[in-house]
Amino acid sequence: MVLKLFDTYERKIREFVPLEPDKVRLYACGLTVYDYAHIGNLRTYIFEDILRRTLEYNGFQVDHVMNITDVGHLVSDADTGEDKMEKGSRRTGMSAWQIAELYTEAFKDDLHQLNIFEPTKWCKATDHIQEQIDLIRCIEENGFTYSTSDGIYFDTSKIDNYGYLARLDVEGLQAGSRIEVGEKRNATDFALWKFSPAGEQRQMEWESPWGIGFPGWHIECSAMAAVYLGDFFDIHCGGEDHIPVHHSNEIAQTQACYGTNLANFWMHGYFLQLDEAKMAKSSGGFLRLKTLVDKGYDPMAYRYFSLNAHYRSKLNFSWKGMDSAMISLNRLRTAVFEWGESGKPDEGYLTKFLNHVNDDLNMPRALALTWDLVRSDLPAGVKKATVTEFDKVLGLRLAEWEPVVEEVPGEVLALVEQREQARGDKRWGDADALRDQIEEAGYQVRDTAEGPQVKSR
Ligand code: AMP
Ligand code: ZN
Repeated sequence: MVLKLFDTYERKIREFVPLEPDKVRLYACGLTVYDYAHIGNLRTYIFEDILRRTLEYNGFQVDHVMNITDVGHLVSDADTGEDKMEKGSRRTGMSAWQIAELYTEAFKDDLHQLNIFEPTKWCKATDHIQEQIDLIRCIEENGFTYSTSDGIYFDTSKIDNYGYLARLDVEGLQAGSRIEVGEKRNATDFALWKFSPAGEQRQMEWESPWGIGFPGWHIECSAMAAVYLGDFFDIHCGGEDHIPVHHSNEIAQTQACYGTNLANFWMHGYFLQLDEAKMAKSSGGFLRLKTLVDKGYDPMAYRYFSLNAHYRSKLNFSWKGMDSAMISLNRLRTAVFEWGESGKPDEGYLTKFLNHVNDDLNMPRALALTWDLVRSDLPAGVKKATVTEFDKVLGLRLAEWEPVVEEVPGEVLALVEQREQARGDKRWGDADALRDQIEEAGYQVRDTAEGPQVKSR
């Protein structure tokens, strides 16, 4: 069955065929580790996980590389302002190196809790300074750079179709009077290497052929992607905000040195929005996975919530949405648990499922099909085997889930027993009084066909 994916570069759905048979080389832009990941960031990593799982479901072996941005990402996209890492260091009172480690570990923990596969290769910007310097030299030798008082810049006017990925109106941007060009030749030019500010000791800085300083943000991804995946690989992805700046610049750098577009497919996850506004870390008070967990939500409920929307549509976060995701997930888990032993999967459902996931990762359809399966009259063992196959892509840990068995204290069980006795003797007043006692002890009793069920209130 054909796998179709939306390629932002071509702005269309294309049939995916790996460049090398059976193997897919995938690069995903990682987190800037100056703070914890917010749930918007995590939406993008859930999308990339679905992509990776879909590729594997189709039988491909995936080389999945993800960087950690621990230097060079400046506060402003125009390459001005402070390095986010140095700013994070001041905010926390820890060193830039310490916060990089702290937030990288916290990020990995978030991925684990969301059942997101770790990349097959992690790489840190600060571990690849030499490779970045080498790439800048190559770009310089090919005549695409110039220097200003604060760094080495990429001259975007030297690239024929600069910004094609974003369909950027380069002339319009240039003419726009509000843009601070400063010493830059063009509004869209960007820093490859920034000099450490005079008289200021940065925590992260290195020697280079141009002077002491640090790499620009975009160069790290072009450099590390080429090191681990080659200068032309299958899929490069990130969030939609990367289209006009970060990925446009990665493409420009790679064209300038290697003459390639870096990746065959460019894929982007759309933003999670909070109250319709962009969820920015810099705005403070952002929501982390831990914020949801502290409020009693299971991390899998956030994964379910994300799967309910197609990755190419914006998604508004709401607590109501989380509540309904939690309810649906619990119903689904309970059904799967009650199906018991697994049998053989249903081929018809498997074909439909593959159709949906291969249709540009249509997870809302895949979830709807899962509910059709739940409601179908197929034998329980067939349902269980089929949903277990679906879960290789959905990643909701459905078959692993078990209801929590509560330890009800002996004295509460004795009250329940006495209440049953009273009900049997039709002593309704006593039965009600016993129910009150059970409730005072913090439990509630529900009468079912299988007898009374007790759980904490
Ligand atoms: P950053 O830490 O800024 O480098 O971002 C890490 C990843 O999260 C990138 O792929 C971004 O495109 C993505 N991202 C940032 N904000 C959001 C958001 N609100 N919704 C979805 N993805 C986002
Ligand atoms: Zn990147």
